[in-house]
Amino acid sequence: MKNILLKVILVCSILFSCSSKEDEIIDNETGNLINVSTNRQVTGSSANDLLSGGILKKMIVEIAYIEGFKPSETAINNFKNFITSRTNKPEGVTFITQEISFTDKEAYTLEEVVALEKEHRTKYSSDTTIALWVLFVNGKSSKDTSSSAILGAAYWNTSFVIYEETLHGLSNGAFEPERSLLESSVINHEFGHLLGLTNLGSELQSNHEDTEHPKHCIEEDCLMYWAAETSQGIGNMLSGGQVPTLDAQCLEDLKANGGK
Ligand SMILES: [Zn+2]
Ligand SMILES: [Zn+2]
Repeated sequence: MKNILLKVILVCSILFSCSSKEDEIIDNETGNLINVSTNRQVTGSSANDLLSGGILKKMIVEIAYIEGFKPSETAINNFKNFITSRTNKPEGVTFITQEISFTDKEAYTLEEVVALEKEHRTKYSSDTTIALWVLFVNGKSSKDTSSSAILGAAYWNTSFVIYEETLHGLSNGAFEPERSLLESSVINHEFGHLLGLTNLGSELQSNHEDTEHPKHCIEEDCLMYWAAETSQGIGNMLSGGQVPTLDAQCLEDLKANGGK
């Protein structure tokens, strides 16, 4: 792996929008009015809705990708398994996929990532279903520097972005991890933030938040460990050839908040 810092960032609340007329769109299928602001809340605030099955019994995951940057089937299957093993959705989890036309954009600001979501997202949460949006982009994050690359970012309560072209540059080469392994690790880590980890909406059941790296777990083997944000850390975490999993303490937090 290249000797650069890889950051899996978490962006909190800076894109919080107020409710207005613009928040209402018409559902193409049902003709009903949808309030999209439900899906434009702060990261972690829908942790219980995602984890529990009492009210929102279904989940729909919309995977969108820029042409040429579709994530691997293995990574999608790993993500499905991660969702179903952690969340209670008695009426199931459905995946839909859409391709977005190629643009030759080299870097995306978070505002541009949000603009893509606003333009292309088709599924929003309803009375019975919680909807998720995951976007895989070409180019890189505008926040990348010569020594630091961002792999993914959770920015709203049901949305995250994966910088797929950046992942391509860091996988499948000599001494680099397999692409699906890297993809799965970043996807699951970002989803972990939506599930409220760590101390981000799912209340701590034990003292395991890393105070030096807030909203991350102190356990080195945990999916939510901060070192997933450095090339060396990610290298260490992936050296066994397995996608990192949640440690017992993070699992306890999820169970206490309606998960399993
Ligand atoms: Zn993180
Ligand atoms: Zn943990």
